[in-house]
Amino acid sequence: YQPQLGLETNKIIGFEALIRWNKPDIGVLAPYKFIPIAEETNLIIPLGEWVINKVCQQAKKWHDRGYKLTAGINISAEQFNQNKIINIIKDSIKATGVDPKFIELELTESVIMQDVNRTIKIFNEFKDMGISISIDDFGTGYSSLSYLKEFPIDKLKIDQSFISNITNHDSNDANIANLVIDLGHKLGLEVIAEGVETQEQIALLKKYACDQIQGFVLSKPLEIDKFEQLLDKSYS
Ligand code: C2E
Ligand code: CA
Ligand code: CA
Repeated sequence: YQPQLGLETNKIIGFEALIRWNKPDIGVLAPYKFIPIAEETNLIIPLGEWVINKVCQQAKKWHDRGYKLTAGINISAEQFNQNKIINIIKDSIKATGVDPKFIELELTESVIMQDVNRTIKIFNEFKDMGISISIDDFGTGYSSLSYLKEFPIDKLKIDQSFISNITNHDSNDANIANLVIDLGHKLGLEVIAEGVETQEQIALLKKYACDQIQGFVLSKPLEIDKFEQLLDKSYS
């Protein structure tokens, strides 16, 4: 669980669930080592279902302790293209009793642009269920601005490739980040910056009125107990 910081409150307001495979003979495997294979073999469907269920369960526990955290869940193309995805999410919400307004599905531009009519239909079903949608790695794919306006989305996640050079005076990345934040706000969306590693980057993003940040400056993804320590500290 990687914490996300609200820049106005300076408190942890949510997290993104990032999967790891703890394989006893090898150690902890990063997603790039097994997610592509899971996608090729369609094992991403049961794996993704497991993730969705786990995250809903964990989010509910934290909500019950008074921490109203948004819970970001990565959804890959293979998962999104299954019509079952609606029921998988519905079932997890029902089984765990989590308030759907805190569940935030992360999809990339390339996934949502594959079949625009279907995307709009599915996104409207997500909306009816009360869950949120964010566009992951925003700025690295192709998304048409006219569709951005039509999709019922809630948040843009500025890709970390724009953030890493944001404080270099001779780079255009600061201008791009600034523009994406304004674009998001003008469309009524929240904006979060990913891959934030320094206080200087935070300061600049605050100046641009970015809503939230996520990155190593705050913390890498953590196991439950370590996440809770950070959470308690943030609210103490
Ligand atoms: P992503 O969704 O773009 O996730 C962000 C990645 O950036 C994560 O890598 C995270 O650990 C890393 N990161 C966070 N803060 C920083 C930072 O400050 N600096 C740098 N350099 N990196 C940072 P991770 O955990 O290795 O995940 C890689 C990708 O695997 C994710 O990219 C996502 O596409 C996929 N993934 C992870 N978990 C799941 C999952 O449960 N389901 C699916 N379908 N995909 C997942
Ligand atoms: Ca993500
Ligand atoms: Ca991302």
